[in-house]
Amino acid sequence: MFIVDSHCHLDGLDYEKNHRDLDDVIAKAAARDVKFMLAIATTLPGFHTLKALVGDRTNIALSCGVHPLNQEEAYDVDEFRRLAADPQVVALGETGLDYYYQQETKAQQQASFREHIRTGIALNKPIIVHTRDAREDTLAILREEQVERCGGVLHCFTEDQPTAAKLLDMGFYISFSGIVTFRNAEQLREAARYVPLDRMLVETDSPYLAPVPYRGKENQPAYTRDVADYLAVLKGVDIDTLAATTTRNFSELFHIPMSRLGI
Ligand SMILES: [Zn+2]
Ligand SMILES: [Zn+2]
Repeated sequence: MFIVDSHCHLDGLDYEKNHRDLDDVIAKAAARDVKFMLAIATTLPGFHTLKALVGDRTNIALSCGVHPLNQEEAYDVDEFRRLAADPQVVALGETGLDYYYQQETKAQQQASFREHIRTGIALNKPIIVHTRDAREDTLAILREEQVERCGGVLHCFTEDQPTAAKLLDMGFYISFSGIVTFRNAEQLREAARYVPLDRMLVETDSPYLAPVPYRGKENQPAYTRDVADYLAVLKGVDIDTLAATTTRNFSELFHIPMSRLGI
């Protein structure tokens, strides 16, 4: 079986307490059939750190971008475009809008979100979108910037079923995290039942949001397996089908041939 963690923050794991090093994280994940990861950047300096951490490993791809909650300081757009063109970079982000934690940087968030989509179109790389308390503006910007020209995924989906429908109409993929296993997440489970298997991805968003039964602990890529197991039951398919389909979706969205994944 082959499962992909489509969204993890590998530079945020606790290498003092919980893991010896990145190879330890990779081994723990592989032991649970999680054999490829997309490591997500949230700032440009952070991208350099992440790239150095990942090195030339072939089972980890990178994203490059500036998170909506990291917009207090302006970043160099030319530098962003140059870094995003790196062949190890398969996606731009995470980008998007987060009005829950920050209202005061709304204008910067929106400008940066648009810049990520435009760069995605220019480089033919999809975008990874984060949204919180900003549903209407997120959908409007995706539409206005014609996101279907580069494609993308709404990561760590916590919206409702009608929002999922609008994203699917734009050709988007929807990624589910450990939140879907939380007891009070019934509305999210309803959305997950609705999203077709061939548009679904799985992720941890580690080190945050560990799924049941690890809630409150540090999340890690290995736990993508728990998200996948849970979604398989929810979708009424076996885990092999869920793993194979979400891996193929990942390959298609990020233009990573199955052979490069090692399948
Ligand atoms: Zn996010
Ligand atoms: Zn994230």
